[in-house]
Amino acid sequence: MDFEKLFEDSKQKALSGRYITLKNIEPILASNKKGIVAEIGKSVEERSIYSYQIGTGKIKILMWSQMHGNESTTTKALFDFLNVLNSDSELANKFLEEYTFYCIPILNPDGAKNYTRVNANEIDLNRDFQNLTQPESNLLMQVYKDFKPDFCYNLHDQRTIFAAGNTQNPATVSFLAPSYNDAREINDVRKKAMCVIAAMNETLQNFIPNQVGRFDDGFNLNCVGDTFKYLGTPTILFEAGHFQEDYQREKTRKYIFIALISGLQWIYENDIVCNETDNYFNIPQNMPVFYDFIYKNIKIYYDNKQLITNFAFQFKEVLESEDIKFVATLVEIGELKENFGHFEYDAEGAIYSDDDDNIPKLEQNIDFYLGEKVKIVNGLPKV
Ligand SMILES: [Zn+2]
Repeated sequence: MDFEKLFEDSKQKALSGRYITLKNIEPILASNKKGIVAEIGKSVEERSIYSYQIGTGKIKILMWSQMHGNESTTTKALFDFLNVLNSDSELANKFLEEYTFYCIPILNPDGAKNYTRVNANEIDLNRDFQNLTQPESNLLMQVYKDFKPDFCYNLHDQRTIFAAGNTQNPATVSFLAPSYNDAREINDVRKKAMCVIAAMNETLQNFIPNQVGRFDDGFNLNCVGDTFKYLGTPTILFEAGHFQEDYQREKTRKYIFIALISGLQWIYENDIVCNETDNYFNIPQNMPVFYDFIYKNIKIYYDNKQLITNFAFQFKEVLESEDIKFVATLVEIGELKENFGHFEYDAEGAIYSDDDDNIPKLEQNIDFYLGEKVKIVNGLPKV
């Protein structure tokens, strides 16, 4: 299959960038021709939560995105995927014949609006699955009970800090087949999720070699994935991560799309005859080793002494007039031996100075000079 072409043909062009809210998806849902769109509930601040149901097949797939409001990449990929299902292609017909899809794009519309992980009560919905204190988590649990899915797809974004294993490769896509008990045992339910992940990984290696990671499988019944796994449904966590220089996550969006298509193809072709978990465990673990920028060998004056050190900056994502501004923030000064930067720069001993008091300040967005010729503005050097 030509995944690249399929993506280009299917891309939902009305969605782009990082700030995706109801305002963006409502017109798409309203113009939908196939499938059933419904408002299934309301958020804390009374925003609509929608479902999109399509297909008549016997395998039931429940997918939800943006349970963390600022994690929009998988919402984009989900709508790209829905365009495939609406295309009347051979692949679309096959999917609709094999599967019934129940999708909840933007489970947390208040968080999406405010560009926050949490909902309007500042609760992380993915830690609320024991107590179910929030309308959004309650709703998802109700849908789960009514729909009785064969698979759950839990769609998220992860930060830029993760590498795939002990490497300098960003974890562009990460997966997890969550545990269902503290011992992290593997039963048939968990094995099914592992096998689908292994299949998606195999396809993704053709596009992003060595940039697929596996998330930590520590058991936490407050998390939705662990809960649904515990209740007997294979659940797959998708984490859309960083691809080189792709802070808008328009490339990562494509890789999530490819993962969705390839995993679903694998499920109906194999009917989950799978006893092989090695391919899952061979996916390297996510390692939190990256910063967005590392500046090495900077000379600073500290306590009347000269010393050569390194700076690490991380982008803070700030919502400003309906757009996300990336603000490079100094987060670490020191050896940074175990770390990598998505952007790295060797100052070769150049002296640090700034327009203030020549003392670099943590947790701030600082512009500064290296020697006389180089100025660093929002993380990047301007000569
Ligand atoms: Zn998340």
